[in-house]
Amino acid sequence: MRVHEVGEFALIARLARRLEARLARSPLVVQGIGDDAALWRPTPGWLSVMTTDTMIEGVHFTAQTMQWRDLGWKSLAVNVSDLAAMAAEPRVAVVTIALTGEEDVEDIDALYDGMADLALEYGVQIIGGDTVRSSHLHIGFAVTGEVPEEGGSAEVLRRDAALPGDVLVITGHPGDAAAGLELLLRDAGAPWPALVAAHRRPQPRVAEARWLSRQGVRCATDSSDGLCQEVELLCAASGVAAWIDAARLPLSPALTAAFPERGVELALDGGEDYDLVMAVRPDDYATIQTAWQACFSVPLTAIGAFEAARAGQGRVEVRGYRGPRNGFQHFPVPR
Ligand code: ADP
Ligand code: MG
Repeated sequence: MRVHEVGEFALIARLARRLEARLARSPLVVQGIGDDAALWRPTPGWLSVMTTDTMIEGVHFTAQTMQWRDLGWKSLAVNVSDLAAMAAEPRVAVVTIALTGEEDVEDIDALYDGMADLALEYGVQIIGGDTVRSSHLHIGFAVTGEVPEEGGSAEVLRRDAALPGDVLVITGHPGDAAAGLELLLRDAGAPWPALVAAHRRPQPRVAEARWLSRQGVRCATDSSDGLCQEVELLCAASGVAAWIDAARLPLSPALTAAFPERGVELALDGGEDYDLVMAVRPDDYATIQTAWQACFSVPLTAIGAFEAARAGQGRVEVRGYRGPRNGFQHFPVPR
């Protein structure tokens, strides 16, 4: 059956039942789906963090590269990643779906199953939403999270806290998601499940970010638009510069095997990794690196350093790589 045959109210009721079947209601939710707005109880002593991000067919994904269930996962994951980048724990989410009406209802079920997969894994409650008609499919989330605040200072990760001398550190394997997308666009993803999964099912680094902030790390962002682009953002916000040593990029074995010539390019400028990019005080780095390995399986790698900004020079210098470069921007500035 098509969405327009089911109608808005029956669709919402169906999706609400589907979420309820998967997600046990947390005590912090006072009113979920069903009234004019949702009610939830913030944790005393914690700071609230809010974010919103939308995925639009033809802009952020195509049916060729994303299945419905992956789309549900990823549309919530990109928001949870923004909360992770602030060192927040995700709490509650509302979702707007814009549908043409021609979709199969079972596909919208699968979309919500993917949302529930992510919500279960990360402890998010989906407590409301909106359903509208549109010429293109959109899935937009607004997600609220919390960061502990003690004595007026929150354990938050900010973009503007990098200092010259800090180590430039990343989580995960940069470039895998971009590699997965390229393979999917060529219908060549099947031999590379890890790369395809990196694109379709990014794993927001929530626990990792909370842990890092407890170790005293204060500066990070998430890598949604490509590693170099994110380092630029940290540098611009902090008024510093940085260098990256291409030889230290932790390219995954799959990336190197699938793209023997282009691993570094994809790692530097491929987007949608949803890993953390951070500045760590040089005296803390060795201790953090050792303790990290006992806690997490994803790698933590020093790939460069921050330094004082110099007039007339670019903010981010890549050492040891002279190959092609490219980045993704919604509204590129003409050069
Ligand atoms: P209103 O007309 O007052 O905006 P809606 O019919 O849009 O009410 O929403 C009714 C209830 O269903 C609200 O709790 C809303 O948050 C929820 N809701 C609507 N659309 C969705 C959706 N796509 N997913 C989850 N919850 C939804
Ligand atoms: Mg509404």
